[in-house]
Amino acid sequence: MIETQGVGIRFGAFVAVRDVDYRVTKGETAGIIGPNGAGKSTLFNLLTGMHKPTWGSVRFQGEDVTSLSAENRVARGIIRTFQLVSVFDSLSVFENMAIAVVRAGSEYRSWWHFLVGASRSESISGRVDQSLSRVGLGEKSGTNVAELSYGDKRKLEIGMALSLEPTLLLLDEPFAGLSDVEITEVVALIRTLQEDLTIVIIEHKISRIVELVDRLSVMHEGHLIADGLPNDVLCDPTVRRVYWGERDQVCEKPEGV
Ligand code: ADP
Ligand code: MG
Repeated sequence: MIETQGVGIRFGAFVAVRDVDYRVTKGETAGIIGPNGAGKSTLFNLLTGMHKPTWGSVRFQGEDVTSLSAENRVARGIIRTFQLVSVFDSLSVFENMAIAVVRAGSEYRSWWHFLVGASRSESISGRVDQSLSRVGLGEKSGTNVAELSYGDKRKLEIGMALSLEPTLLLLDEPFAGLSDVEITEVVALIRTLQEDLTIVIIEHKISRIVELVDRLSVMHEGHLIADGLPNDVLCDPTVRRVYWGERDQVCEKPEGV
Protein backbone atom coordinates (compact mmCIF):
# COMPACT_ATOMS: atom_id res chain seq x y z
CA MET A 1 0.00 0.00 0.00
CA ILE A 2 2.65 2.51 1.08
CA GLU A 3 6.39 2.14 1.38
CA THR A 4 9.29 4.40 2.28
CA GLN A 5 12.86 3.79 1.22
CA GLY A 6 15.66 5.37 3.23
CA VAL A 7 13.38 8.25 4.07
CA GLY A 8 14.61 11.02 6.36
CA ILE A 9 14.20 14.68 7.12
CA ARG A 10 16.40 17.32 8.64
CA PHE A 11 15.20 20.52 10.30
CA GLY A 12 18.31 22.73 10.35
CA ALA A 13 20.98 20.67 12.05
CA PHE A 14 18.44 18.32 13.67
CA VAL A 15 17.53 15.06 11.98
CA ALA A 16 13.98 14.15 13.06
CA VAL A 17 13.62 11.00 10.93
CA ARG A 18 16.57 9.10 9.50
CA ASP A 19 16.91 6.30 7.03
CA VAL A 20 13.49 4.74 7.59
CA ASP A 21 12.32 1.81 5.48
CA TYR A 22 8.68 1.40 6.42
CA ARG A 23 6.01 -0.56 4.63
CA VAL A 24 2.30 -1.06 5.13
CA THR A 25 0.49 -3.89 3.38
CA LYS A 26 -3.03 -3.56 1.99
CA GLY A 27 -5.69 -4.48 4.53
CA GLU A 28 -3.52 -4.51 7.63
CA THR A 29 -3.78 -2.40 10.74
CA ALA A 30 -0.29 -1.29 11.69
CA GLY A 31 0.82 0.46 14.85
CA ILE A 32 3.74 2.79 15.45
CA ILE A 33 4.88 3.42 19.00
CA GLY A 34 7.83 5.30 20.43
CA PRO A 35 8.72 7.87 23.07
CA ASN A 36 7.80 11.53 22.63
CA GLY A 37 9.95 13.19 20.01
CA ALA A 38 10.84 9.87 18.35
CA GLY A 39 9.72 11.13 14.94
CA LYS A 40 6.35 9.37 14.65
CA SER A 41 4.26 12.39 13.62
CA THR A 42 7.06 13.54 11.34
CA LEU A 43 6.96 10.16 9.59
CA PHE A 44 3.21 10.72 9.02
CA ASN A 45 4.06 14.16 7.62
CA LEU A 46 6.41 12.48 5.16
CA LEU A 47 3.78 9.90 4.17
CA THR A 48 1.09 12.53 3.66
CA GLY A 49 3.25 15.09 1.88
CA MET A 50 3.06 17.75 4.57
CA HIS A 51 6.85 17.55 4.58
CA LYS A 52 9.15 16.69 1.70
CA PRO A 53 11.92 14.30 2.72
CA THR A 54 15.54 15.42 2.78
CA TRP A 55 16.50 11.87 1.78
CA GLY A 56 14.70 8.86 0.37
CA SER A 57 11.42 8.20 -1.33
CA VAL A 58 7.77 7.34 -0.67
CA ARG A 59 5.75 5.00 -2.87
CA PHE A 60 1.98 4.60 -2.67
CA GLN A 61 0.28 1.74 -4.51
CA GLY A 62 3.35 1.33 -6.69
CA GLU A 63 3.61 5.01 -7.64
CA ASP A 64 6.46 7.27 -6.52
CA VAL A 65 4.65 10.06 -4.66
CA THR A 66 7.73 11.67 -3.08
CA SER A 67 7.25 14.97 -4.85
CA LEU A 68 3.45 14.89 -4.88
CA SER A 69 1.65 17.62 -2.88
CA ALA A 70 -0.41 16.83 0.22
CA GLU A 71 -3.61 17.68 -1.72
CA ASN A 72 -2.75 15.23 -4.47
CA ARG A 73 -2.06 12.53 -1.91
CA VAL A 74 -5.45 13.19 -0.29
CA ALA A 75 -7.02 12.77 -3.72
CA ARG A 76 -5.29 9.38 -3.96
CA GLY A 77 -6.78 8.33 -0.62
CA ILE A 78 -3.99 9.03 1.89
CA ILE A 79 -5.96 10.59 4.73
CA ARG A 80 -4.80 11.42 8.25
CA THR A 81 -6.01 12.76 11.55
CA PHE A 82 -3.89 14.91 13.84
CA GLN A 83 -2.45 14.43 17.31
CA LEU A 84 -4.41 17.47 18.50
CA VAL A 85 -8.04 17.20 17.48
CA SER A 86 -8.59 19.33 14.40
CA VAL A 87 -12.22 20.39 14.07
CA PHE A 88 -13.88 23.80 13.89
CA ASP A 89 -15.11 24.68 17.38
CA SER A 90 -17.30 27.56 16.23
CA LEU A 91 -19.35 25.40 13.84
CA SER A 92 -21.92 22.70 14.51
CA VAL A 93 -21.23 18.99 14.16
CA PHE A 94 -23.27 18.99 10.93
CA GLU A 95 -21.34 21.93 9.49
CA ASN A 96 -17.97 20.37 10.25
CA MET A 97 -18.97 17.17 8.54
CA ALA A 98 -20.47 19.12 5.63
CA ILE A 99 -17.11 20.76 4.97
CA ALA A 100 -15.44 17.37 4.77
CA VAL A 101 -18.20 15.85 2.63
CA VAL A 102 -18.20 18.77 0.20
CA ARG A 103 -14.41 18.73 0.00
CA ALA A 104 -14.58 15.07 -0.91
CA GLY A 105 -17.07 15.67 -3.71
CA SER A 106 -17.25 17.71 -6.86
CA GLU A 107 -19.06 20.50 -5.02
CA TYR A 108 -15.72 21.64 -3.59
CA ARG A 109 -15.63 24.90 -5.52
CA SER A 110 -18.84 26.11 -4.02
CA TRP A 111 -18.53 24.78 -0.50
CA TRP A 112 -19.01 28.20 1.03
CA HIS A 113 -22.22 28.74 -0.92
CA PHE A 114 -23.32 25.36 0.24
CA LEU A 115 -22.76 26.26 3.88
CA VAL A 116 -24.62 29.52 3.56
CA GLY A 117 -27.67 27.76 2.15
CA ALA A 118 -26.95 24.48 3.81
CA SER A 119 -30.32 22.80 3.70
CA ARG A 120 -30.64 23.24 -0.06
CA SER A 121 -28.60 20.26 -1.10
CA GLU A 122 -30.37 17.11 -0.04
CA SER A 123 -27.79 14.72 -1.39
CA ILE A 124 -25.02 16.38 0.58
CA SER A 125 -27.18 16.60 3.64
CA GLY A 126 -27.92 12.87 3.33
CA ARG A 127 -24.24 12.07 3.06
CA VAL A 128 -23.47 14.21 6.09
CA ASP A 129 -26.13 12.36 8.13
CA GLN A 130 -24.75 9.04 6.95
CA SER A 131 -21.19 9.99 7.87
CA LEU A 132 -22.29 11.18 11.31
CA SER A 133 -24.20 7.94 12.01
CA ARG A 134 -21.16 5.95 10.98
CA VAL A 135 -19.18 7.44 13.89
CA GLY A 136 -22.13 7.46 16.31
CA LEU A 137 -22.83 11.20 16.20
CA GLY A 138 -26.18 11.08 14.42
CA GLU A 139 -28.00 12.48 17.44
CA LYS A 140 -25.57 15.36 17.88
CA SER A 141 -25.81 16.83 14.40
CA GLY A 142 -27.06 20.23 15.61
CA THR A 143 -24.71 20.51 18.58
CA ASN A 144 -21.99 23.13 18.58
CA VAL A 145 -18.62 21.44 18.45
CA ALA A 146 -17.42 23.60 21.34
CA GLU A 147 -19.94 21.73 23.53
CA LEU A 148 -18.80 18.24 22.55
CA SER A 149 -16.68 16.05 24.82
CA TYR A 150 -13.13 15.47 23.64
CA GLY A 151 -14.05 11.89 22.76
CA ASP A 152 -16.91 13.03 20.52
CA LYS A 153 -14.60 15.58 18.87
CA ARG A 154 -12.20 12.75 18.12
CA LYS A 155 -15.03 10.68 16.62
CA LEU A 156 -16.08 13.66 14.51
CA GLU A 157 -12.53 14.11 13.29
CA ILE A 158 -12.29 10.44 12.34
CA GLY A 159 -15.69 10.72 10.63
CA MET A 160 -14.49 13.72 8.65
CA ALA A 161 -11.41 11.77 7.58
CA LEU A 162 -13.65 8.85 6.51
CA SER A 163 -15.85 11.08 4.39
CA LEU A 164 -12.74 11.88 2.32
CA GLU A 165 -12.88 8.22 1.28
CA PRO A 166 -9.49 7.01 2.43
CA THR A 167 -7.64 4.05 1.01
CA LEU A 168 -5.04 4.48 3.73
CA LEU A 169 -6.14 5.99 7.04
CA LEU A 170 -3.42 7.40 9.30
CA LEU A 171 -4.46 8.12 12.90
CA ASP A 172 -2.00 10.18 14.97
CA GLU A 173 -2.54 9.35 18.65
CA PRO A 174 -6.32 8.87 18.41
CA PHE A 175 -6.54 8.14 22.16
CA ALA A 176 -4.54 11.12 23.41
CA GLY A 177 -6.44 13.13 26.02
CA LEU A 178 -9.37 10.69 26.14
CA SER A 179 -10.83 9.04 29.24
CA ASP A 180 -10.83 5.23 29.52
CA VAL A 181 -14.50 5.08 28.52
CA GLU A 182 -13.89 7.32 25.51
CA ILE A 183 -10.87 5.25 24.48
CA THR A 184 -13.02 2.11 24.54
CA GLU A 185 -15.52 3.85 22.25
CA VAL A 186 -12.87 4.98 19.79
CA VAL A 187 -11.29 1.49 19.81
CA ALA A 188 -14.73 0.08 18.96
CA LEU A 189 -15.07 2.62 16.15
CA ILE A 190 -11.66 1.73 14.71
CA ARG A 191 -12.60 -1.95 14.84
CA THR A 192 -15.55 -1.27 12.54
CA LEU A 193 -13.14 0.21 9.97
CA GLN A 194 -10.49 -2.50 9.99
CA GLU A 195 -12.19 -4.78 7.50
CA ASP A 196 -12.45 -2.18 4.73
CA LEU A 197 -9.40 0.00 5.27
CA THR A 198 -5.67 -0.09 5.64
CA ILE A 199 -4.93 1.74 8.88
CA VAL A 200 -1.81 3.02 10.64
CA ILE A 201 -2.15 4.13 14.25
CA ILE A 202 0.49 6.10 16.13
CA GLU A 203 0.28 5.71 19.87
CA HIS A 204 2.43 6.82 22.75
CA LYS A 205 1.04 4.31 25.23
CA ILE A 206 1.35 0.69 24.29
CA SER A 207 -1.51 -1.08 26.03
CA ARG A 208 -4.34 0.26 23.91
CA ILE A 209 -2.98 -0.49 20.49
CA VAL A 210 -1.45 -3.89 21.09
CA GLU A 211 -4.92 -5.43 20.97
CA LEU A 212 -5.82 -3.49 17.84
CA VAL A 213 -2.90 -3.97 15.45
CA ASP A 214 -1.61 -6.81 13.26
CA ARG A 215 1.91 -5.44 13.30
CA LEU A 216 3.84 -3.07 15.51
CA SER A 217 6.77 -0.81 14.69
CA VAL A 218 8.87 1.16 17.15
CA MET A 219 10.56 4.49 16.53
CA HIS A 220 13.31 5.91 18.68
CA GLU A 221 15.34 9.05 18.00
CA GLY A 222 14.26 9.15 14.36
CA HIS A 223 15.06 5.50 13.67
CA LEU A 224 12.77 2.54 13.15
CA ILE A 225 14.24 0.18 15.75
CA ALA A 226 11.79 -2.72 15.59
CA ASP A 227 9.03 -4.05 13.38
CA GLY A 228 7.00 -7.26 13.63
CA LEU A 229 4.21 -9.07 15.44
CA PRO A 230 3.14 -6.99 18.48
CA ASN A 231 4.14 -9.52 21.14
CA ASP A 232 7.50 -10.23 19.48
CA VAL A 233 8.25 -6.52 19.24
CA LEU A 234 7.36 -5.94 22.88
CA CYS A 235 9.80 -8.70 23.87
CA ASP A 236 12.61 -7.23 21.79
CA PRO A 237 15.46 -6.32 24.20
CA THR A 238 16.19 -2.98 22.50
CA VAL A 239 12.54 -1.98 22.65
CA ARG A 240 12.32 -2.94 26.31
CA ARG A 241 15.42 -0.92 27.10
CA VAL A 242 13.94 2.14 25.37
CA TYR A 243 10.62 1.79 27.14
CA TRP A 244 11.38 0.25 30.52
CA GLY A 245 15.07 1.03 31.06
CA GLU A 246 18.13 -1.15 31.67
CA ARG A 247 16.65 -3.07 34.60
CA ASP A 248 13.93 -4.74 32.60
CA GLN A 249 15.65 -7.28 30.39
CA VAL A 250 13.30 -10.23 30.80
CA CYS A 251 10.13 -10.45 28.76
CA GLU A 252 7.43 -12.64 30.16
CA LYS A 253 4.14 -11.27 29.00
CA PRO A 254 3.83 -7.64 27.90
CA GLU A 255 2.11 -5.80 30.68
CA GLY A 256 -0.13 -2.80 30.02
CA VAL A 257 1.81 0.45 30.18
P1 ADP B 1 6.66 12.24 17.97
O1 ADP B 1 5.43 12.39 17.15
O2 ADP B 1 7.29 10.90 17.87
O3 ADP B 1 6.44 12.63 19.40
P2 ADP B 1 7.65 14.33 16.23
O4 ADP B 1 7.69 13.62 14.92
O5 ADP B 1 6.52 15.27 16.44
O6 ADP B 1 7.75 13.27 17.42
O7 ADP B 1 8.98 15.14 16.43
C1 ADP B 1 10.26 14.55 16.31
C2 ADP B 1 11.29 15.61 16.55
O8 ADP B 1 11.35 16.49 15.44
C3 ADP B 1 11.03 16.46 17.78
O9 ADP B 1 12.24 16.72 18.43
C4 ADP B 1 10.45 17.73 17.18
O10 ADP B 1 10.74 18.85 17.99
C5 ADP B 1 11.17 17.82 15.84
N1 ADP B 1 10.37 18.52 14.83
C6 ADP B 1 9.20 18.07 14.31
N2 ADP B 1 8.74 18.93 13.37
C7 ADP B 1 9.65 19.93 13.32
C8 ADP B 1 9.76 21.15 12.54
N3 ADP B 1 8.81 21.46 11.64
N4 ADP B 1 10.84 21.92 12.74
C9 ADP B 1 11.78 21.59 13.64
N5 ADP B 1 11.74 20.47 14.40
C10 ADP B 1 10.70 19.66 14.25
MG1 MG C 1 3.56 13.00 17.60
